[in-house]
Amino acid sequence: MSDPRHQVLIVGGGAAGLSVAVRVSSDAVLVSASPRPGWPPHCTGLISPETLKLLSAHEAVSDTYRGAVFLDARLREVCRVERRRVLAYRVNRPLMEEVFAEEARARGVRMMFSKPVVHVDWLTGCAMLADGGRICGERVVLAPGYSPRFAMLFGAERCERLYGVEVRVVLARRMLDDVFYTIHGSIYTPEFFAWIVPVNAGREALIGLAARNKPLERLAALLDDLARRGVADYTRVVSRRNGIIVMGPAAKRITRGKLVGLGDVLCASKPFTGGGLYAISRLASLVAGYADNTIAYGELDAAWRLLRRELLLQRKLTKLLRVLLSSSLTKLVLAPICEAGSRGLCSLDYDRHSSAVSCLWKLYRLWGGGRVAEARAAEENS
Ligand SMILES: Cc1cc2nc3c(=O)[nH]c(=O)nc-3n(C[C@H](O)[C@H](O)[C@H](O)COP(=O)(O)OP(=O)(O)OC[C@H]3O[C@@H](n4cnc5c(N)ncnc54)[C@H](O)[C@@H]3O)c2cc1C
Repeated sequence: MSDPRHQVLIVGGGAAGLSVAVRVSSDAVLVSASPRPGWPPHCTGLISPETLKLLSAHEAVSDTYRGAVFLDARLREVCRVERRRVLAYRVNRPLMEEVFAEEARARGVRMMFSKPVVHVDWLTGCAMLADGGRICGERVVLAPGYSPRFAMLFGAERCERLYGVEVRVVLARRMLDDVFYTIHGSIYTPEFFAWIVPVNAGREALIGLAARNKPLERLAALLDDLARRGVADYTRVVSRRNGIIVMGPAAKRITRGKLVGLGDVLCASKPFTGGGLYAISRLASLVAGYADNTIAYGELDAAWRLLRRELLLQRKLTKLLRVLLSSSLTKLVLAPICEAGSRGLCSLDYDRHSSAVSCLWKLYRLWGGGRVAEARAAEENS
């Protein structure tokens, strides 16, 4: 390749790179290490209705959930939120990326797969490819997933990472297919949570967890216990996938010279659920606009600062919630929140963990208000 220069060069053909590819309007080219879009798959794909809308990924929706069930460390149900409206959708990740890639191609974006980038120069905007080629962009969207050397460019070297593993299993008994399950405070996943997401009309399930070490052994132990306790008994494992789950703190900056980052490279994900698609959906249009020169640096930077502040706050709340959830307070904390969420006393938002805290606060005030009213009534009676 004789050093071709494009307006936009996108490095990475995952959710982040392709979300930008479908939005850029100028002369753009995408290079990715993967052999095809969305490959290999490594993500459950659970997202909120708002994230789905921002991503415009409706074609890839495979399941819909109206509720969530929380299990404690002993796999006992501690609470259940069930709503009339949709709480979360599951998108089929490889399909989502296939659809994005097709749309981007139709818009004239050139795509090259099986082309890993080994180095990117943030001053010139030129990338060295593993096959010896070189390709440059006036703006370079760097979206290679989490990679320490690329994350460093944006000041995300302190990024906390967990290994995420997930299996798809055929169930011995069908599960309810419109609620998903999370398991908190357990030995299988001390730093995160485990999940059971029924798919294929409840005939199969995605069971996964994230941990700092030994994820496969922990998952095997969890599968045994789930079967033994009759929570999710399975007849066979159909497939397995794994990857990295980034937990923040999010990168200090979103740009560096000619580069603009998006996705896991910025260590930007919703801390409680490791929801990387959340941050991608909030930024993709702005990053594409910046790459196209239709959005000024100030606008992008302001949006990043706002999102980063929110993610940092959620990270702190998550740490607090996790301490509560790993103690005997699990039921005491969760049960009233779930009950209030189900009864519509407060709205629980899949994307904002602060909604659980504000729900607790609201309940406390209602409870406090009730006690004041009781005291007043007692006074009046006497
Ligand atoms: C088990 C598991 C479950 C998850 N579940 C959820 C969930 O339910 N909801 C949610 O929101 N998030 C979830 N996530 C997180 C989510 O998968 C990530 O946040 C998201 O995939 C990040 O997208 P990305 O494009 O930044 O990176 P990736 O999806 O990793 O894509 C990076 C792309 O860049 C390419 N690439 C890598 N290096 C190079 C290079 N040097 N040169 C060129 N190309 C390169 C890769 O081949 C790949 O195509 C989960 C993650 C795991 C591991």
